[in-house]
Amino acid sequence: MPIYEFECKKCGERFEQLLGINEPTNDLRCPKCQAENPRKVLSVFSSASGGSSGASCTPSGST
Ligand SMILES: [Zn+2]
Repeated sequence: MPIYEFECKKCGERFEQLLGINEPTNDLRCPKCQAENPRKVLSVFSSASGGSSGASCTPSGST
């Protein structure tokens, strides 16, 4: 089960929440000020975010 990070729009509190795939996020509240609808933050520690995988194979066949 992945951990998502949320940031409160009201007080800026950041907190982590375990969420299942089908688990709704609209019930989430800030643990600090109880504000609704915190913003989902992309967690930095998820390591599967690498774009450039060296796909620059230019066939330089200069004759
Ligand atoms: Zn808050």
